[in-house]
Amino acid sequence: MVGHRQREPGDSRDPAHGADRARGHAHPLARVRGGGRPAARARRHAGLGEDHGHDRVRPARESGRRRRRAPRIRRGDGATPGARVSGADAVKPTVTEAVDRLADDLERLSHRIHDTPELAFKEEQAHGWLAEFLEKHGARVERGVGGLATAFRATIAGMGAGPTIAIMAEYDALPGIGHACGHNVIATAGVGAGAALAALGTLPFAGRIQVIGTPAEEGGAGKVKLMDAGVFDGVDAAMMIHGRCGTQVWRPSLGIIKVKVEFFGQAAHASSWPWRGVNALNAVIALFNALDAMRQQIRTDARIHGVITKGGEQANIIPEYTSAEFYLRAITVPYCHELLRRFTAAAEGAATAAGCRVQVTADPTVHEPLKPNPTMAEAFRRNLQYIDFPEDPDDGQAGYGSTDCGNVSQRLPTIHPYIRISPDGVPGHSREFAEWSRSPLARAGMLAGAKALALTALDLLASPEALARAKHDFTREGGNA
Ligand SMILES: [Zn+2]
Ligand SMILES: [Zn+2]
Repeated sequence: MVGHRQREPGDSRDPAHGADRARGHAHPLARVRGGGRPAARARRHAGLGEDHGHDRVRPARESGRRRRRAPRIRRGDGATPGARVSGADAVKPTVTEAVDRLADDLERLSHRIHDTPELAFKEEQAHGWLAEFLEKHGARVERGVGGLATAFRATIAGMGAGPTIAIMAEYDALPGIGHACGHNVIATAGVGAGAALAALGTLPFAGRIQVIGTPAEEGGAGKVKLMDAGVFDGVDAAMMIHGRCGTQVWRPSLGIIKVKVEFFGQAAHASSWPWRGVNALNAVIALFNALDAMRQQIRTDARIHGVITKGGEQANIIPEYTSAEFYLRAITVPYCHELLRRFTAAAEGAATAAGCRVQVTADPTVHEPLKPNPTMAEAFRRNLQYIDFPEDPDDGQAGYGSTDCGNVSQRLPTIHPYIRISPDGVPGHSREFAEWSRSPLARAGMLAGAKALALTALDLLASPEALARAKHDFTREGGNA
């Protein structure tokens, strides 16, 4: 337990309290702040648009009347007047039951990954356990795909030639704070979906569903490497879930340019000859101060943040070399480049002030913002309703992060919905969120994610019209939005 704030006994924020709830068989979401009866909340939130503030998607009721875009899914009857029967509905109960049967095994796997945090590109154990799990349940697994030792691809075959729908799984941890981004939940939701689909035997539709294990989301842009290596060639649509302090089918993500800055000065005795030195630490401090002054003049949704990775060797030596790493983030890639231009000017100014030489090296891999796909988002939303898992309004209390899934979304139709695995207001990348990633709420979110991913993949595989609409969205939505 990490004491970030005082907790009262029985506080719903306390993961231990969640465990009590689970033992009492209460619905794990029922008492979360901002919660309520899940089914009622699902219905209440069913009309929410998905693209907050951008008006890309109309409320569901309206879109059903005016556009009739997404396949209509209802419990029990399988078909809705005015919409083509997708065929997926007939097998959905079997798939959700398979996820429920696997629930305890999936939770154990999630905890094992959580207890063994592995950093980007070093997720060897997680890779092995996840691949083994999928294989055991009937998927054909290729390990080490795309030249990445810890990537994998599991295929669940359908009936002959047809489209490929991919479900992505992440499993890397963060340095120092473990699974504080909840990738253990992403991983087990993805392989849970794959294993449940494999329980159908051959999928009763043309094509195939793949679970692609994508290493190194935190800082390594593993998905970009896999795309470059051709692993996503032939994939028609891709999806994943990410844990969060609320369930939102659509939230934007920011683009990132990663930058390394180095200052080169001159060493000298810090006491007897300081005037003979050129202090590279002064330059890096001046850069941080210049960036702090710059913040008022950048767009409010842009972010510049960094750490000093080398600040000198010892206090009695004037630092001759310092370095720092920064992320420059913005909602569009062009504005990321504008931030890079201004960052470089600030670094040059800091170097001039300190008398140093400077080198700014931008990582050639640019993280791109997520491109929305209303058709796929709507299908996912309806599947959440089908399993009675509530969608939450975005409370606007957090800014946006970034993901290498953004690059996938700029290449092919993709969704990246968020699923509640913690109470409201728990920041990602915090020790508190790491605890919640191993809680009963995380179990509930993981199982809901597995089901909704599997059902949405089936919807796209079973309905050529739905997939065509998703592709049309992709073409229409423009790039790097
Ligand atoms: Zn993260
Ligand atoms: Zn993450």
